[in-house]
Amino acid sequence: MPIQDNEQGATNQLKKIRSALRALRDAVILLNDDDGLEWWNQAAQDLLSLQTSDKGRCIFDFIQVPEFIKYYQEATTLNVDANANANTNTDIDESVHIVSWQDPNRYLKCELTPFGDEKLLIIYDVTRLQHLEAMRRDFVANVSHELRTPLTVLMGYLENFSDQPDMPAHWRRGFELMTQQTARMNRVVNDLLLLSRIEIEETHAFNDIDMTKLLTNVYDDAQAYNQEYKHTIHLHIDTYDGLYGSEMYLNSALSNLVINAIKYTPKGGNISISWTKTAEGCRFAVEDNGIGIAPKHLSRLTERFYRVDSGRSRATGGTGLGLAIVKHVLYQHEASLQIESVEGVGSTFSAVFPNDYVRSATIN
Ligand code: ADP
Repeated sequence: MPIQDNEQGATNQLKKIRSALRALRDAVILLNDDDGLEWWNQAAQDLLSLQTSDKGRCIFDFIQVPEFIKYYQEATTLNVDANANANTNTDIDESVHIVSWQDPNRYLKCELTPFGDEKLLIIYDVTRLQHLEAMRRDFVANVSHELRTPLTVLMGYLENFSDQPDMPAHWRRGFELMTQQTARMNRVVNDLLLLSRIEIEETHAFNDIDMTKLLTNVYDDAQAYNQEYKHTIHLHIDTYDGLYGSEMYLNSALSNLVINAIKYTPKGGNISISWTKTAEGCRFAVEDNGIGIAPKHLSRLTERFYRVDSGRSRATGGTGLGLAIVKHVLYQHEASLQIESVEGVGSTFSAVFPNDYVRSATIN
């Protein structure tokens, strides 16, 4: 094929790609190595009120939202590091959600893809999705709240009736089952309400937390729960460093991890709880030698109501919401949950808190 035909073909292809990008409803912006605007489509022009003369101007002249600037700088720096050392497992956030600087009721998702010295920025309007998400949150919170009062009445009467010494024997079993099931429903409702509260109050009453005290509480509660399991539980506190966060929610989350270790370990097992300092911050870990979890379940464990074995979870009084609560609380503290597990051998659940949330112990 003659060279001119090849060139003509490539030019036509390029034209088609440009027209497609121009027609996209999402804003697409091509940035140079100085973070200056190189090319943009119609949606980006409308969103940022761009003019032809803006070519070459820095993206931060147009988007001054702090979350966006932080995300952009991290994504570009981490990309440079990752290129320098291809074996490094760098954790780059895929996108950032921001509130539009022009309209507080509009939500945007920004996704930056560095390639070579240039970057491709795509901005999606996710307002509808955010509204749907808010509707889901409100619905769950309202239903849970509405169920609370009838449940309290039911539980009260069931307890009264069950205490009657002259209750016919053939009714007793039925009352026992009703009491068990209403207690279970009550636990589910309480966990759903807790989850809703955590989702709504994003940085709920954050304070400096004495982790030695908090972990001692978690350990004491675990020992009380351990009565029937008779595991050996050890608590290792290797640092007096504390955290900045929500004491109430962290207590709930870390207790959930410890109670799970107790529940999913056959009687007489070994459980080790630890609090240690690492280069990135501080790590809370619970290690058990229990039933373990097959790899295929690991990525889904923090979904609401996801259980490996529903029968076992229910038999131990589980609601299937414990790890969802853990995930949300850790998210609030910018911490990550790591799960290592081998079926039949045991599991280690760790919460890794970044240095920004660690409060160094002061020695008086
Ligand atoms: P549940 O109330 O069912 O315990 P969670 O959300 O706390 O709900 O946990 C979800 C599932 O993860 C559990 O049903 C169980 O299958 C599994 N799991 C959690 N912790 C452990 C553990 N330490 N060992 C084995 N399996 C676990």
